[in-house]
Amino acid sequence: MTLHPHHHAATAHAWHLGLALAHLEQLAQAEAAAARTEWATVHDGVRSWQPSTGRSQGAHGDPVASAVTTAGSRPRLGLTLLHSNAVETLWWLLGQLDPTAVRRGRALEALTARIPRLQPSAAGELVRWLAERDQVVRDRTGRPADWRRVPHDWPCPACGERLLRLAPAGPEETWVVWCPGAAAGGVPHAWAWPEVRVGLPVAGRAA
Ligand SMILES: [Zn+2]
Repeated sequence: MTLHPHHHAATAHAWHLGLALAHLEQLAQAEAAAARTEWATVHDGVRSWQPSTGRSQGAHGDPVASAVTTAGSRPRLGLTLLHSNAVETLWWLLGQLDPTAVRRGRALEALTARIPRLQPSAAGELVRWLAERDQVVRDRTGRPADWRRVPHDWPCPACGERLLRLAPAGPEETWVVWCPGAAAGGVPHAWAWPEVRVGLPVAGRAA
């Protein structure tokens, strides 16, 4: 099947989002573990509390009041929520693009596998969604972009841009190159990495 540049660009952005989501998942797991520890500490405090036989010391001396206030005063699971929302939205998106899709395995992998079968216009829409979600996740987690430069600053055949981006995830034969110089909303300048690689000087092919 001949793939449209929209398909290549969607695949590149899906890989890139995958790297951001994997990082987010690690952070979310650490956050959830910390929250469990905190809750266990709070509940231990509640269990060990006994009514005072003397005069009330007020809220400042009340372990229950201070424990409950601490536990409820700050959102502790923001990254966990961000991750679960992202995954849930990916499943929803897959269902919109393919109503026959079954929820099995990982959402982004299932979505990425469907990309070659999408209409080019749908793949183009998907690029925008993936890029937006990728930026949201990276803004929250502080993870910088994972794009690599194409070796030798290979110039884009369509516009001459020399800052082409490579999404290096998964097997090398599936890597994708895209060009940030293409006009937004137009047809992207994007190719499968193996197509680009054969045109590079030999030294660049090892990437
Ligand atoms: Zn270009």
